Amino acid sequence: MRQRVEIQRLPDGYALKNGRRLLNFSDNDYLGLSFYPQVIQAAQEALTTYGAGAGASRLVTGNHPLYTQLEQELAQYKGTEDALVFGSGFLANLGVINGLIPQEDVILADRLIHASLVDAIKLSGVKFQRYRHNDMQHLRQLLEKSARCCWIITESVFSMDGDLAPLAEIQALAEEFGAMIIVDDAHGFGVLNPFTSPLASRVREREVSETPSPEIALRQFRPLPEGEVRRIIWTGTFSKAAGSYGGYVCTTKAQIEQMVNKARSLIYTTGLPPSVVAANLAALRIIRVQPELTALPLHHARLFDPQAQSAIVPVIIGTEEAALAAAKMLEEAGFLVPAIRPPTVPAGTSRLRFTFSAVHRAEDIARLRAIVKEVTS
Ligand SMILES: *Cc1c(COP(=O)(O)O)cnc(C)c1O
Repeated sequence: MRQRVEIQRLPDGYALKNGRRLLNFSDNDYLGLSFYPQVIQAAQEALTTYGAGAGASRLVTGNHPLYTQLEQELAQYKGTEDALVFGSGFLANLGVINGLIPQEDVILADRLIHASLVDAIKLSGVKFQRYRHNDMQHLRQLLEKSARCCWIITESVFSMDGDLAPLAEIQALAEEFGAMIIVDDAHGFGVLNPFTSPLASRVREREVSETPSPEIALRQFRPLPEGEVRRIIWTGTFSKAAGSYGGYVCTTKAQIEQMVNKARSLIYTTGLPPSVVAANLAALRIIRVQPELTALPLHHARLFDPQAQSAIVPVIIGTEEAALAAAKMLEEAGFLVPAIRPPTVPAGTSRLRFTFSAVHRAEDIARLRAIVKEVTS
């Protein structure tokens, strides 16, 4: 049974559960921005200036001035012509698929994409096929067999495995077969961003060379001509590294305009509260200018597991019962780590999912590492 357990997150990387302070290795607030003073202050000021709610859909009266600023700066950061902010990452994924993909096309999706993308695909009614996780040969076979226009859908950083999509190879395939690509960057944004957006990477080459993970840069980054870059549509969320709430799609002006007119998850829902948009704008500005902060989650993940490719590190346990028991033992030792079970992950691969944040301390990660070794041996 899934349950709603009462938990209070604290600013210092801890969380309160059943009255106990536990070290929190289980949420996606990778940079600690949900408690960052500038983010909170921006939200407070917007509350006072613009009120508690948006009042209506963005297409009616809900499109307050902060939206324009956020979308402009986000597009700049992602290196796209334009951006569109949705109510959440889930709604953005519904919107991009419903708003952009014609009925007669075909979707080719990585087997491990997020549930929101799966639901969006099913709702769209567009024909779809799954390719084996990160299996480029399988993807090529499906592209070869398809007579229709194809849309490849992947995540940049896979949410339950923490591994990366081979974006450069996907891009080359898309170019060869004239396909489009939708990349859900929910777990890359603010953590691996310079690596996952080729166009943005070009702007920020200096930062890339300063980050501690050149091998990821090599795998992800390949400068491309403008036309090629436009095959990629980015979606993502402000609910993870940005520390607040909301989702986005970054792509060409023409496609953004098409979504404004067609995406039902944008049109038929109320705009985000202005304070949330203000928090997102403040968070984005911090992410843009503080590469030393955004490098920390991966750095911390690698203190736990030197092979880590992102801020997410799974430890596969096997059965649901064993994963739950391991999570319970960790909790008794003072660490909050979720056991992830089917249907979120395939049967037999129940796991502990560790997420690392900028606010964690090296000595706590070392203790965690020692205890996990004990619990899983
Ligand atoms: C969390 C997540 C989403 C949903 O984002 P929300 O803003 O929480 O709705 C979408 N895709 C992926 C890969 C995610 O991890």
